[in-house]
Amino acid sequence: MYNFTNMNKTGKLFVISGSSGVGKGTLLKELLLQHPDLKLSISATTRNPRPGEIDGVNYFFTKKQDFEKAVQNGEFLEWTEFNGNYYGTKEAYVRKTLSKGENLILEIETKGALQIKEKLPDSILIFILPPSLEELEHRLRGRNTEDELSIQNRLKEVKREIECSKQYDYRVVNDDLSKALKELEEIINRNLGV
Ligand code: ADP
Ligand code: 5GP
Repeated sequence: MYNFTNMNKTGKLFVISGSSGVGKGTLLKELLLQHPDLKLSISATTRNPRPGEIDGVNYFFTKKQDFEKAVQNGEFLEWTEFNGNYYGTKEAYVRKTLSKGENLILEIETKGALQIKEKLPDSILIFILPPSLEELEHRLRGRNTEDELSIQNRLKEVKREIECSKQYDYRVVNDDLSKALKELEEIINRNLGV
């Protein structure tokens, strides 16, 4: 097992994006199992938890009013509205983690990712692409977590997201899961100098 933690150096920040249903969660779960020294940042969101999601584990589920207060207080490194809900990353957590030499992964959408790249140019942006739009819709529906309106809203974002991905450092197609995982690991290892 690799030990990516380095106490003398600032940690690396990886930002992973991809359209809803493309397989980000699935890939990251596998990646983190193999590399427990990579930390996954926990975002704040105003959306309701899905069955099985736990506050403080999947997200910090936050009331809209509290989220807006945190925005006013300048607590977010980035935040955005997506599908009618707010999502954001707390700046203090990211800076503290990186300054300890720990490597951090953010799984966030494209607008937030580009805000991060502007503020922290050393961050590494990775976009996960679907093998096709049909397969993406199939996966999103197959996951069975969204109602029809939410599915339609998420699919509406896809073309804009793929256009945005041209500004990313890397793009990985998640067709065969193990192949995509290997590619993702190679990108991470290369940037960590492993
Ligand atoms: P995201 O986190 O990007 O919204 P998920 O990880 O929840 O996506 O994956 C959406 C669905 O697609 C899940 O049911 C998952 O099991 C499935 N999936 C993920 N990767 C693949 C793949 N490479 N091939 C087939 N199905 C996949
Ligand atoms: P979901 O509701 O499916 O969990 O997430 C919807 C979208 O919000 C996904 O594209 C996910 O990557 C993104 N997201 C999750 N957390 C954050 C965050 O802190 N900031 C931003 N900008 N997007 C986020």
